[in-house]
Amino acid sequence: MTQLVELGREGDVAVLTVSNPPVNTINAAVRAALAGALKDLGPPKALVLRCEGNTFFSGADIGEFSGPPQEEAYRRLFNAIEAAPFPVVAAMHGTVMGGGLEIALACHYRVAAPGTRFGLPEVTLGIIPGAGGTQRMPRLAGIEQTLELVLGARPVDTARAIELGFLDQVVEGDLRAGAVAFARGLSAPRRTADRKVDAVSEAVLESFREKARKQHRNQPAPLIAIEAIAASARLPLAEGLEHETKLVNELKATTESKALVHVFFAERETRKIPGIGAKVKLRPVTRAGIVGAGTMGGGIAICFANAGIPVTVIDANEAGLQKGLAVVAQTYDGMIKRGRLTEGEKAQRMALIQGSLDYDSIKDADVVIEAVFESPALKKEIFRKLDAVMKPGAVLATNTSTLDIEDLAAAVKRPQDVIGLHFFSPANVMPLLEVVRTKDTAPDVIRTALDLARPLRKTPVLAKVCYGFIGNRMMEGYAREAERMVLEGATPRAVDSTLERWGMAMGILAVFDMAGIGVGVSVHQSNADKYPPDPTYYQADFALYEAGREGQKNGKGYYRYEGRERIDDPEAIAILAARARELGVPQRPHGETEVLERCLYPLMNVGFRILEEGVAVRASDIDVVWTSGYGFPRYRGGPMFYAETVGLPKVLEVMLKYKAALGEPYGSMHWQPAPLLERLVREGKSLADWEQERSRRD
Ligand code: NAD
Repeated sequence: MTQLVELGREGDVAVLTVSNPPVNTINAAVRAALAGALKDLGPPKALVLRCEGNTFFSGADIGEFSGPPQEEAYRRLFNAIEAAPFPVVAAMHGTVMGGGLEIALACHYRVAAPGTRFGLPEVTLGIIPGAGGTQRMPRLAGIEQTLELVLGARPVDTARAIELGFLDQVVEGDLRAGAVAFARGLSAPRRTADRKVDAVSEAVLESFREKARKQHRNQPAPLIAIEAIAASARLPLAEGLEHETKLVNELKATTESKALVHVFFAERETRKIPGIGAKVKLRPVTRAGIVGAGTMGGGIAICFANAGIPVTVIDANEAGLQKGLAVVAQTYDGMIKRGRLTEGEKAQRMALIQGSLDYDSIKDADVVIEAVFESPALKKEIFRKLDAVMKPGAVLATNTSTLDIEDLAAAVKRPQDVIGLHFFSPANVMPLLEVVRTKDTAPDVIRTALDLARPLRKTPVLAKVCYGFIGNRMMEGYAREAERMVLEGATPRAVDSTLERWGMAMGILAVFDMAGIGVGVSVHQSNADKYPPDPTYYQADFALYEAGREGQKNGKGYYRYEGRERIDDPEAIAILAARARELGVPQRPHGETEVLERCLYPLMNVGFRILEEGVAVRASDIDVVWTSGYGFPRYRGGPMFYAETVGLPKVLEVMLKYKAALGEPYGSMHWQPAPLLERLVREGKSLADWEQERSRRD
């Protein structure tokens, strides 16, 4: 027995307590300690299995995925628990996911503290529950209910767990004492293995498959999960478990699962910044200010209020302020309608958001975020005002998407306190937060910003100042080629559908319609000088905008809209064809491969530039930006992971192919391979090799 597991006694009931902080993940050491403890146990009347700390077993150790398969070890341990000749009770609290729930299913009875949440989210990692979940859960909850739980991958609460039949009782008060009392009243084991599963019809299974193909496009795990769960009706538990093991191991070897696991770890890595360690002290953030109560300011205010941090929002005039606060209230009302918030919670959160027209009201804020119109002169004026009123040490942040933050920092006497906090729209929903450091930003400001992301429920990624930072800079090539292809005669539908079939959450032209074509036009106008003098540059946007098509805002853009429904519009296509004629761009058909290559390869190519320039700290940070902020499919791992999946020599080859094929000057203007990409291919190295060499050098 190790310190990981402690055996206690409450009269004739034994209590095994596991303590593997911080969240009691099940790893090899825990499995070994539990197996040992079970063997050493003189048979008690009953056994309670519980965990110390914030939660019962939160899940399996995902770090073990890359090593040899562990399913057999899980199976042996869980079967031993199930075979115990005395009743075994799981006493659960916290967040009980994946392997954490599967160990409980192998116990004979299950009780939980109020507020406990349960889930089998393995498909989000490209696998299926592999420690008995696909076989034991149907025995307790039924096949359809298990399919919903596994394919939905969303946690359920105690009430639903009781309804589903895998939770016996909610224990109010002391969980350990309640579980022991429950165990004492039991007379015999009740093994999940002995239960029969009712089969469901092929038609029901097919409806789940159809839904899975739509919701989890291009991913094998959900379909395999359906097969495994359906098999529980056919196979005795022991055979079902072996079948499950075989399937989960096949899934672990897929690129999709490797990509999903890569993103899972990448998201946990982004806060680690070379040179800014734990020793750098945080600046406390207990009050916030926002300047600009528009789309972004309002959304950011909601993030602070949801985090319990009081926030004051300033606008230029009463009308702007009231409009902004009304939108905030409407957003909360929408959440109430969807059952995500109560009236009481709304009132609490609204009480944390104050409106004001006076800068004095934010002078004591620890962080202030400027979110006014995208105008350099206006933003500089605001920064000068903030410099005059904010207390010393306040973090001065801007939400600009395109402006040079170093230029803004030059307007204040404390450039070390200036940082970019680039939220994405809608700010209260989108998980990505680009944190943009200038050459002067102080290390503790960077650390404070990265840490602030946690209560705001954002995934922060650090970038250095450059035009577009990480996300929008990479977007440039992707969007440019999509626009160029519709000038060359591809239809908007052909471009968008190809991208969506490949896995993008939304085709890029539909994204432009949603954001407003005018927004794009003004960005291209003010930044044309940053790109080669290409007369066709973003001309699709210009042509549509000049013809009065603003996107969803006025119901017509690349498409025509009825409500939110996109409808192909011959008028838009004619406008694009006319502009192509004026520009001398020949019309021709485009195959799916060309659409994908022309959109995705420039995107990856710019990623290599960004890495070499040090704009992003690491390749996986770029992947996080694109998967959490730009709808890049997680199961493809993000653009840099995808580049390695297709192979860097292939990425280079495709860049050179279009450089030649698209002719001059277009080819060399836009299709020049990044020097880092060329070098890695020449030297036969991977991005990981390059990052390792760099960290040895630094
Ligand atoms: P918006 O037009 O919705 O809101 C701007 C707000 O600023 C308005 O309420 C306006 O009244 C207020 N304002 C203008 N002048 C002011 C002043 N002098 N003092 C105080 N308030 C003033 O704009 P938005 O979409 O929220 O964008 C704000 C910023 O966020 C811009 O820098 C934009 O580039 C950036 N951004 C926008 C998005 C997006 O998708 N909308 C995404 C990321 C970043």
